[in-house]
Amino acid sequence: MLRFHNYDIVFQEVPCEVTLAINISGCPNACKGCHSPHLMEDIGEILDENVLAVLLEKYRDAITCVCFMGGDSNPQEVERLSVFLRNATGRRVKTAWYSGRNTFSDSTLQTFDYIKLGAYIEALGGLDSPTTNQRFYRIEGGAMVDWTERFWKR
Ligand code: SF4
Repeated sequence: MLRFHNYDIVFQEVPCEVTLAINISGCPNACKGCHSPHLMEDIGEILDENVLAVLLEKYRDAITCVCFMGGDSNPQEVERLSVFLRNATGRRVKTAWYSGRNTFSDSTLQTFDYIKLGAYIEALGGLDSPTTNQRFYRIEGGAMVDWTERFWKR
């Protein structure tokens, strides 16, 4: 089970997409210098198919992508919910996952259009820092295309 704190429509987190970003709580990563320490607590509403169906109904015409921000406590559930979105009737929205992990399973490659990997290391900075350890990939036909540099040119 996953819980989420809030959501917002954003433009920077996934290049070339208008994204509904869902901030998932219960983060297990405990990064030093965490930008959102409240997300380490197990707070908020349960994130399930019913919630996603309501959000899709409300925002489908305004967005092109849904991004799961976190969810490392239960990657299988993030994948399951991504599959639900991909199989939903109507215009398909892309799916993205911002994970703090450094690796992911083969099934993840089949499940998302975009994925961000890597813990937040304060000294290296986030995706917008050229020294970052984090990587952002576009998944194209099962291949990972590194788009991280796109975050440095803004
Ligand atoms: S992954 Fe993000 S939310 Fe979780 S501890 Fe690290 S910086 Fe904070």
